[in-house]
Amino acid sequence: MNFDLTDEQQMIRKTIREFADEVVAPGAIGRDRTKEFPRDIFRQLGEMGMMGLPFEEKYGGAGADTISFAIVTEELSRACASTGITYSAHISLGGAPLNLFGTEEQKQQYLVPICTGESLGAFGLTEPNAGSDAGGTQTTAKPEGDDFVINGSKVFITNASYAKHLALTAITGTEDGKKEISAVIVPTDADGFQVIDNYEKMGLNASNTTELVLENVRVPQENLLGKRGNGFRQFLVTLDGGRIGIGAMAVGIAQAAFDRSLQYAKERKQFGRAIADFQVNQFKLADMALKIELARNMVYKAAWLKDEGRPFSKEAAMCKLYASEIAMEVADEAIQLHGGYGYMKEYEVERYMRDAKLLEIGEGTSEVQHLVIARQIGV
Ligand SMILES: Cc1cc2nc3c(=O)[nH]c(=O)nc-3n(C[C@H](O)[C@H](O)[C@H](O)COP(=O)(O)OP(=O)(O)OC[C@H]3O[C@@H](n4cnc5c(N)ncnc54)[C@H](O)[C@@H]3O)c2cc1C
Repeated sequence: MNFDLTDEQQMIRKTIREFADEVVAPGAIGRDRTKEFPRDIFRQLGEMGMMGLPFEEKYGGAGADTISFAIVTEELSRACASTGITYSAHISLGGAPLNLFGTEEQKQQYLVPICTGESLGAFGLTEPNAGSDAGGTQTTAKPEGDDFVINGSKVFITNASYAKHLALTAITGTEDGKKEISAVIVPTDADGFQVIDNYEKMGLNASNTTELVLENVRVPQENLLGKRGNGFRQFLVTLDGGRIGIGAMAVGIAQAAFDRSLQYAKERKQFGRAIADFQVNQFKLADMALKIELARNMVYKAAWLKDEGRPFSKEAAMCKLYASEIAMEVADEAIQLHGGYGYMKEYEVERYMRDAKLLEIGEGTSEVQHLVIARQIGV
């Protein structure tokens, strides 16, 4: 067993860590307030070759592995979780299904602009009446001549305002009396396609979360992604990979909360001593470090299994569940260690808690992760 990162992974970590500290972190508080989307950061990430990191070089990717993707997501999220979720969704929800299930022509047409950063990647599964029960999809894509005619709506879709196209699930017919759910690639500028960006969120304020409304949107049937009727299964596979991204985001947020807390505990004096001198606070910091270490190992293990081509659904669900829950715990403890200052926006730790909460909800809630794990362990 070897716990060391490879030379390439270390080099990627060094590069992205510097970028996160110098370019991403400085504006994070401001973007949280103004909700300004970090467009320029993504332009620069494109120039750095990060936007197609785990995809093949022939599509404009960098051919790196999933551990490298987790490292980049963690480092960006440590500086600004809105930037982290945008990146994670771009790669693991936008690019990955095209890479896994697309034809060569579809990859050339749709994956290449994702790898260059010309288009952000997005993924449309959730609907007003189909959340945890994603199979409850009501959007339809009716075959008509050579086209699909799509009607329906999607909610909470990350990145769609900056995506030129996205894959979404829709009912394409019935099979043995059951809904046949397929994935279809839809250009966001198609007639009848509306992307609405007006949610008021609790956190991740600089990320783009949208509602999609599709009214008689016509796309050629060649835009089918993968096999007809396989859409739901394909999205489950996609979500397995996405959960590694959420786990990595959680580790990044928790690390940021810990770093702030350690520094603050050494500087803040009460009763004539640094609050870090009180054993209760040393134990709090030790517990935070312990949880982060464990969560990061779980994320890397799931990523490694994926890179080895081995089953990783259970480990992905476990790392997502554990990392998101400890990110909330660590952020909460960070506020407590900061006292009243922790409650103030300027000290940033309250943002970590607001941002971390989404990680217990998106890409399958904590309850859904328990269901996935229970199934995997044969309950
Ligand atoms: C900021 C943000 C970004 C998102 N980005 C995307 C995106 O890019 N693409 C996309 O498709 N979706 C996206 N989502 C949607 C997200 O994946 C869903 O919100 C999530 O899966 C939960 O669905 P829901 O909100 O409908 O909650 P519900 O499914 O209604 O769940 C409500 C509660 O019931 C519980 N529950 C439901 N079923 C069960 C059960 N069987 N057993 C026990 N408890 C259960 C849940 O755990 C939860 O606590 C995003 C959401 C947010 C908030």
